[in-house]
Amino acid sequence: MEPLDLTKRAERKLAMKPEWANMCFTCGTCASGCPVSGVDGWDPRKLVRAVVLGLEQEVIDARWPWICTMCGRCQYACPQGVELVSLIRNVRYHRDRDKVPGTLHKGVMAALKTGNNFSIPKDDFIFVMEDVAEEFAEEEGLSDFKMPLDKKGANILCTVHGKLPYGQTDDMKFWWKIFYAAGEDWTIPSENWEGVNWALYTGDDEAMKTMVGRIVENMEKLEAKNLLFPE
Ligand code: SF4
Ligand code: SF4
Repeated sequence: MEPLDLTKRAERKLAMKPEWANMCFTCGTCASGCPVSGVDGWDPRKLVRAVVLGLEQEVIDARWPWICTMCGRCQYACPQGVELVSLIRNVRYHRDRDKVPGTLHKGVMAALKTGNNFSIPKDDFIFVMEDVAEEFAEEEGLSDFKMPLDKKGANILCTVHGKLPYGQTDDMKFWWKIFYAAGEDWTIPSENWEGVNWALYTGDDEAMKTMVGRIVENMEKLEAKNLLFPE
């Protein structure tokens, strides 16, 4: 089966092909491996069937396609090669942005504007990271440990999950400890450091591309050799 052509979304909203009606034989392999199958009536089979039957707007307006975590297990296990994850993402793409559930779209907007999902200003980020690094050095007795922000030519550039500097700072110390013990050469950019791209989950291609592009820019600007997403 040919893959979904997501560039032609406008032609038919969910870009499903008629042959998918025959491809999916409702075996349930996808549903049995899905970690959220049954939650709020979610079942990946239902989605495929509803779209094949032309219930596109109903699916776009429904809450249940947003229950999916987009882990990809269903697609991996499907014996027929049905591209469930692309389909789920496409359903989300067509939802009006003000109807995206929860805080996901707000987070995307915040990330586009400020470089991170929690709108942490650059100065505050630098202050928090240096302060936690000082605390870490003291706790571990590592007087030579310094926060390597914006270090050029490092072996590893790490992105950061916004929730860590926002309120779970201790969770960063674990990987700092490993880096220190391994003598790793690493850095964190002081701008556009967010490693969690919520646009992936909201189906917002443009925003996702912008955020990925910023990470690439950071890699180039800081001449980093490898990229690490610790989350
Ligand atoms: S695993 Fe594939 S073929 Fe089976 S029900 Fe799910 S989508 Fe259809
Ligand atoms: S991608 Fe979604 S539907 Fe597929 S297994 Fe994961 S949670 Fe379930």
